[in-house]
Amino acid sequence: MEMSSKLLERAVAEISQLPGIGKRTALRLMLHLLKQPEEQTRQLAEALHKMRTDIQFCNRCHNIADSGLCQICANTSRDTSIICVVEDIRDVMAIENTSLFKGVYHVLGGKISPIDGVGPSQLNIPTLVEKVKAGGVKELIFALSSTMEGDTTNFYIYRQIKEYGITTSAIARGIAVGDELEFADEVTLGRSIIHRVPFEISMKNM
Ligand SMILES: [Zn+2]
Repeated sequence: MEMSSKLLERAVAEISQLPGIGKRTALRLMLHLLKQPEEQTRQLAEALHKMRTDIQFCNRCHNIADSGLCQICANTSRDTSIICVVEDIRDVMAIENTSLFKGVYHVLGGKISPIDGVGPSQLNIPTLVEKVKAGGVKELIFALSSTMEGDTTNFYIYRQIKEYGITTSAIARGIAVGDELEFADEVTLGRSIIHRVPFEISMKNM
């Protein structure tokens, strides 16, 4: 794409590295910014930079946070004895949008996937096992997507915490196999958390 400006070319190249944004879209966005007051671009750049440098991860659940604890963990009305285990931060957002879950979360940061070279040690599994070991946890709800990797991850965690005798459940498989949690509609997702099933039964349905 001939752009007659190296500055524009560079901006387009940077933006088009983002997922889902091709060179055409990137160019359209940049041309839009050029038509707006300079202040708008400055604020955009500052917001992006600040998000990247200042964002933290909750030291209890690994969710994104603005300080050491995320807003969910810092909320004293949440039930810390029920932990919903999710793959990533987008799942927390999806479940929070249903407003039906009053427990807390644990973000694994991925799923066990030998093909992609992701083993248990690369995920936030030890901190979850520690929480269960420390006591005070009554139930773990597995809310990973129902793929082979999701099931493998659930089962791996289940084996680690089985001896502590807590309740383990899985979100009801109303969500079609292979559907990512983040795309499930809120009503379905909410229902699947309310009507969760004991983990052992969910395994038999696999
Ligand atoms: Zn947290």
